[in-house]
Amino acid sequence: MKSIKHLLGHWLSCKDASRVVSQAQERSLSAFERWRLRMHLAVCDKCTRFERQLQFMREALRRYRS
Ligand SMILES: [Zn+2]
Repeated sequence: MKSIKHLLGHWLSCKDASRVVSQAQERSLSAFERWRLRMHLAVCDKCTRFERQLQFMREALRRYRS
């Protein structure tokens, strides 16, 4: 039987999770969206790496601009 963490993590597909991660760069997410994303990132290395990459790029861009 799959764990509850696993089930919640896959409530959001990788496709949806990466979309939410990209949207997070442009707008603030609702508490519900953030929670669902956290649940997915807790079980998915691929999307965790994607989020880190985006954050890194955003930081770099911000430093470049200022
Ligand atoms: Zn994923």
